[in-house]
Amino acid sequence: MNQTDFNTYWEKRTALRTTAYFSNVDNVSKAIHKVYISNYNQLQKEVALIYKKYLKTGKGAYKAAYVKQIMTNIDPNLTKLFLKQNKEMEVLFGNTYQNEFYNAIFDLGRGGLQYSFTPLNSKALAKVLAYPWSGADFSERIWDNRAKLVRSLKQNITQGLVQGQGFPEMTRNLAKRMDVSYKQANVLVRTETQYFVNQAHYDSYVEAGIDKYQFSAAMEKQTCPECASLDGRIFLLKNAVVGVNYPTIHPDCRCDTIPELGQSRTGTKSAKIGDEWVEVPKTMTFDEWIAKNEFAYLNPLGI
Ligand SMILES: [Zn+2]
Repeated sequence: MNQTDFNTYWEKRTALRTTAYFSNVDNVSKAIHKVYISNYNQLQKEVALIYKKYLKTGKGAYKAAYVKQIMTNIDPNLTKLFLKQNKEMEVLFGNTYQNEFYNAIFDLGRGGLQYSFTPLNSKALAKVLAYPWSGADFSERIWDNRAKLVRSLKQNITQGLVQGQGFPEMTRNLAKRMDVSYKQANVLVRTETQYFVNQAHYDSYVEAGIDKYQFSAAMEKQTCPECASLDGRIFLLKNAVVGVNYPTIHPDCRCDTIPELGQSRTGTKSAKIGDEWVEVPKTMTFDEWIAKNEFAYLNPLGI
């Protein structure tokens, strides 16, 4: 395949698979949303209990103790919520990465590259999943989000009680906090999915001996100027830096890359094996050629 045909082929196949991955992302989002709702309902119950007591004892009393009581009761639920996020995302990212890695390996082969590759194992996969590409791995981000949510709920309850907010206003504010946290989870799952697709590509390029790639910005209204300015530019794989010239560049970035096949590496060349001239992959090395032949290389020039 020449580079132009390959670009079309690669982009079409990548886009199809990415659509499937993002439908999995939607399913994970829905599953997480359910847990947010049940957590919110529980939180609302706890707050309602405090309001009852609060009305009896009068304003100003025991505010810190009230907040502590609500948080103590809701805390195990919040932990479950974030454990659920962690589990759902770990499975999703692991499956996405593996699937994309093998598909990319296959597609590079269809492009005409001939090479052998190292199959994935669980150790390699665990390493990919735990790589802190954005300064933290996805799991750390999840637990950061938990800390943020706990902080903001505490703050809202304290302030609400101090300001003498009514129950409807208080619960509306808490619902907003839960919603902010849910949105953070969504951005995380989308961003990391795109990152693992790009990482699977990167690792397949390494396996195939690709040395250059083209940055391909998502053609969307919301594509940022930074990504747009990288679009179409060709970089050496050895100089690739995630977040700088290799996607994912920023949260919710939907950019990807196209490998440069390097025409010299594709197709075949003639080589003598035994007494016959046969076509072998252009990537066949001299040592491989020797190994295919029964004779020992005599090195006639003695150098
Ligand atoms: Zn982007």
